[in-house]
Amino acid sequence: MNAGTHRPTIIEVDAQAIRENIHHEIKRLHQGNDLFAVIKANGYGHGLIEVAHFVVEAGATGFCVAILDEALELRSAGFSQPILILGIVEPQYAQLLADNKISVAVGSLAWLEEATKVLQSDQPLRVHLALDTGMGRIGFQDRDELKPAIDYLQAHSEQLLFEGIFTHFSTADELDDRYFKLQLSRFNEFMSVVPKRPRYVHVANSATSLWHQVCEGNMIRFGIALYGLNPSGEAIPSPYVLKPAMAVSSELVFTKRLKKGRSVGYGATYTAQEDEWIGTVPIGYADGYPRNLQGFHVLVDGQFCEIVGRVCMDQLMIRLPREYAVGSKVVLVGKSGDQEIKMEEVAEAAHTISYEIVCGFSARIPRIYLHNQKS
Ligand SMILES: *Cc1c(COP(=O)(O)O)cnc(C)c1O
Repeated sequence: MNAGTHRPTIIEVDAQAIRENIHHEIKRLHQGNDLFAVIKANGYGHGLIEVAHFVVEAGATGFCVAILDEALELRSAGFSQPILILGIVEPQYAQLLADNKISVAVGSLAWLEEATKVLQSDQPLRVHLALDTGMGRIGFQDRDELKPAIDYLQAHSEQLLFEGIFTHFSTADELDDRYFKLQLSRFNEFMSVVPKRPRYVHVANSATSLWHQVCEGNMIRFGIALYGLNPSGEAIPSPYVLKPAMAVSSELVFTKRLKKGRSVGYGATYTAQEDEWIGTVPIGYADGYPRNLQGFHVLVDGQFCEIVGRVCMDQLMIRLPREYAVGSKVVLVGKSGDQEIKMEEVAEAAHTISYEIVCGFSARIPRIYLHNQKS
């Protein structure tokens, strides 16, 4: 897609914020435990390769991604750190995975059997066994299913390397920890049939690491919090200050005095109650700014301005407190004067989570990196 380099709408990514979030987290880990940065989906919209550099500078020792292409892009860019693909890769790509030293999540014996059919034995494929303790997404269902897979790995150690074992919690970002504890006890049951722990045992995403200092495991899969976003939205405070890395801004490209009684936007859902100043901002739902944010706000000159009328595909309209010049800065996410709009607030107003907002910003918005030279 074409990035809009001749349009004032931009995403700024603060590399120093990412480094600081990682530093804070590493300080809380047991000595020697690894932090793998989760940079799937273009680094949650922040830029895959750029974020990979920042997290390595800050001490991350590996990466997690979702799909094979993301892993290959990291290898092409020269990253030699461990990379774990968290989703299922088709077994036909087993040799490609092995050649590139890319580790993969596996949730069935059948997958291992398929993979060994295509694997040469010069370079073993690194396997992380996924345990379904209650997420219900991928993974072995119980010990009886797991045991034969472990035996199979042992019997095929020329082709397959049992590198890791893991699970994923579905409620780690909630105050009620009953389901979390149920998953944890299932995890421990699974582990009772693992004869020798592999190199990596990992259970923690951001929320688990922030709020459940579970000792199981020697690696964490740290995602949303490295971007400075609270996994719970605003429900549970973070144990340290998370510094948001992403800011979204634009400029007024058109302003007018709208006469009382005139309407704005598709469906004419907003009508001026009096003569008022209306500004047009060049960002819309094609850029990933949610369409349902009519009534939410942006910042101009440190003041909240309501979004009036429906958000269009490429533009939206705001009510200004007074006349502002074309070219005035508009902050959609981030700080302006003494005020701030947080990504979590945008998400809440759009009835979703910050994850969906950040990874939904399209390639049409250029990413600009601040503090990307390590000082
Ligand atoms: C995406 C993902 C993570 C990262 O989760 P955050 O909440 O962003 O920290 C960790 N583990 C798995 C299996 C994932 O799919």
